[in-house]
Amino acid sequence: MARYTGAVCRLCRREGQKLFLKGDRCYTEKCAVDRRSFPPGQHGNARNKKASEYGVQLREKQKARRYYGVLESQFRAYFEMAANRKGVTGENLLGILESRLDNVAYRLGFAMSRAEARQLVRHGHFTVNGKKVNIPSYLVRPGEVITLKEGSRDLDKFKAVIEANGARTAPKWLDFNKNTLEAKVVSLPAREDIDLPIEEHLIVELYSK
Ligand code: SF4
Repeated sequence: MARYTGAVCRLCRREGQKLFLKGDRCYTEKCAVDRRSFPPGQHGNARNKKASEYGVQLREKQKARRYYGVLESQFRAYFEMAANRKGVTGENLLGILESRLDNVAYRLGFAMSRAEARQLVRHGHFTVNGKKVNIPSYLVRPGEVITLKEGSRDLDKFKAVIEANGARTAPKWLDFNKNTLEAKVVSLPAREDIDLPIEEHLIVELYSK
């Protein structure tokens, strides 16, 4: 399965904002956006020209892609899926991205970043309706129950991350029981459930050209 393997802090610097791709480090003074708040590369520090309309739309799409760690071809496929659903395409798109199993594991506090959640899903630590699912792009559906596998609960890394994220509240479309570590998908995520600063209409405009 293809994935971005470059330096992730460069992605945040390119978008000019924290995308929280590295877990703990993002909240410390080591964050590259805080230390060097200009785009990466030889001319990154040069005064920027005003971005074109296309440039603004492109950056918004790249930002969304990077938040969720999705490559271009898959992102485009999600867009087509969103456009074929009833409702507002941009909101559908974010709902689809948010329904990915790796994102769900992150939202439930089982990982410090989506990248870490993706790896944990790949390693088979989660079940959906009692069956192991190790596909990060698996899209959860209303009624399904996502659980940390029985055999994984005693692992030190999960104990530590669950404790560290204890105060985190799961989004309301996931009914999470912190005692049983089970989450039932109550509904598909609505736009107001997604707290990311993405202007999805710009992505729709970009792909509609
Ligand atoms: Fe982005 Fe986190 Fe790196 Fe800061 S530390 S630049 S938020 S990935």
